Amino acid sequence: MNDQLPPFSGDSPTCPKCGNVGATTRYRAASPRMLWDWNDATGMRGQLPERLERECDRCDWHWDEALVDQPAHDGPSVAECTANDRAHWNDKYAGEQR
Ligand SMILES: [Zn+2]
Repeated sequence: MNDQLPPFSGDSPTCPKCGNVGATTRYRAASPRMLWDWNDATGMRGQLPERLERECDRCDWHWDEALVDQPAHDGPSVAECTANDRAHWNDKYAGEQR
């Protein structure tokens, strides 16, 4: 599903609405089809793949981009972080409802 999203545009993307250079980036897990508040409207979106959500620093416009194929750093991959996080929390809260 990631091939349906535009590629990650780097740390200084150009907003498609206002032309500002600069946006925040948030990792978003895969999500089922549901009602979303998205760019000043409420509507059905999804189902959505794992993605990077970008938010313009100037006008707050949001758009989605694909995960990078190769990590941009030497640290662990998203999959490794997810596995480590899951192992950590499973050990700490074994038996509790998740
Ligand atoms: Zn903008």
